[in-house]
Amino acid sequence: MPTLLWFRRDLRLHDLPPLLDAAQPDGEVLACYVLDPRLARSSGPRRLQYLHDALRELRDNLDGRLLVVSGRPEERIPALVEAVGATSVHVSADYTPFGRRRDDAVRDALNGIGDGVPLEPSGSPYLVAPGRVTKGDGEPYKVFTPFFAAWRKHGWRAPARTGPESAKWIDPADVPGGVDIPDDGVALDLPAGERAARAQWEEFVDTALRGYADDRNRPDLDNTSRMSAHLKFGTIHPRSMVGDLGRGKGGQAYLRELAFRDFYASVLHEWPHSVWWNWNRGFDAIKPDEGAEAEKAFEAWKNGRTGFPIVDAGMRQLAEIGWMHNRVRMIVASFLVKDLHLPWQWGARWFLEQLVDGDMANNQHGWQWTAGSGTDAAPYFRVFNPTTQGRKFDPDGTYIRRWVAELADLPVDADVHTPADRRPAGYPEPIVDHARERAEALRRYADLG
Ligand SMILES: Cc1cc2nc3c(=O)[nH]c(=O)nc-3n(C[C@H](O)[C@H](O)[C@H](O)COP(=O)(O)OP(=O)(O)OC[C@H]3O[C@@H](n4cnc5c(N)ncnc54)[C@H](O)[C@@H]3O)c2cc1C
Repeated sequence: MPTLLWFRRDLRLHDLPPLLDAAQPDGEVLACYVLDPRLARSSGPRRLQYLHDALRELRDNLDGRLLVVSGRPEERIPALVEAVGATSVHVSADYTPFGRRRDDAVRDALNGIGDGVPLEPSGSPYLVAPGRVTKGDGEPYKVFTPFFAAWRKHGWRAPARTGPESAKWIDPADVPGGVDIPDDGVALDLPAGERAARAQWEEFVDTALRGYADDRNRPDLDNTSRMSAHLKFGTIHPRSMVGDLGRGKGGQAYLRELAFRDFYASVLHEWPHSVWWNWNRGFDAIKPDEGAEAEKAFEAWKNGRTGFPIVDAGMRQLAEIGWMHNRVRMIVASFLVKDLHLPWQWGARWFLEQLVDGDMANNQHGWQWTAGSGTDAAPYFRVFNPTTQGRKFDPDGTYIRRWVAELADLPVDADVHTPADRRPAGYPEPIVDHARERAEALRRYADLG
């Protein structure tokens, strides 16, 4: 009997558990993807291009046997089930609030077909699926370090042995409703797709993994793995990566970051309100700035024109390539929340619009960590000083010069982090006084009681 394999955030053929379940010895599989207009509205042009490029590669790897349709999944998936007479629909589980609502709607619609057609999840985008690692009393962890210890102890499965040859695929030409995969020609900094994911990972393991523990905080060295968009779209599963990490310092530091990814997915799963609301509702009492001046400051931040070189470098990197180094994400986020006193949600929304790797769990909780309102968050009184952060993590200003054109030609001996005395024409004056705004932030936080 035919089955459906519905791709979502798992755009690959290797190490794909639902493919094992979908492929029955005597049945055929329809591989499909639903272009959901809601996702198109909430993803910026670069993330959409990345998704579409990954879909094109997936289709090529299946010799064209991927059916792409467009519309609401709760309508399109049942229609495909009926078109091919499928007996089950197989997916990797999705744990985001949006994904769970979508899957509930699809499950309900499938129940209405004949005696009901099951939506069968297997596997997830994570090493350990949300909800699996809990405290002794069954409660979810709120603090990363004990979560990490329990997560390591829990462990994960070996990669699933799957590939294009794992199933007999239905030719999509025989099924109505297929649409072209859009191509808006948006330039991407790094290529999408399963082959690119493997190549990127192998290059990182060969060249930078060993030094990762020491170098990961240095935006000037640019030595992190750049695997985030691949992990977001599942063109590779982290299970296929951990075998290469080894026991060295670099590999162990990398494993910890993958654990952070699982931790934030778990937190969002347990506390779905934290997607746009403070995880710690005590922070609802903070009064952010508003009005025309707040809007003006927000525009300066978005355009990389705050007059703080490390902040401007990060925001321009984001605007230019749709990615920003983690340390700089923390610095620009702290600046938005604690120097400009704007709501973290404004910054999170802008990041989601711009980032190729934009991910609800990592992004919203990265922001909440900085704002102090998240689980295990930075204490509210820790306010990053953008100048000292710049000096520490970009010591000769290589990163700043790379992204802020006005500062690129400052003499080698000039202090690129505080170009006050030799501020080149066209580069803005600092839009705020950091010391004053730090005190103001602390005053507002202290009011929380
Ligand atoms: C304000 C803010 C917003 C963020 N938004 C996102 C986002 O939308 N999408 C996203 O994938 N990451 C986000 N991060 C986390 C982190 O910045 C990126 O995952 C990382 O910079 C991606 O680059 P990389 O693949 O080279 O990272 P590497 O250093 O090579 O890390 C390897 C992988 O580990 C995971 N990882 C690393 N750091 C973190 C972290 N702090 N939290 C969770 N997972 C992590 C990522 O999947 C990453 O690809 C955000 C962090 C902050 C502070």
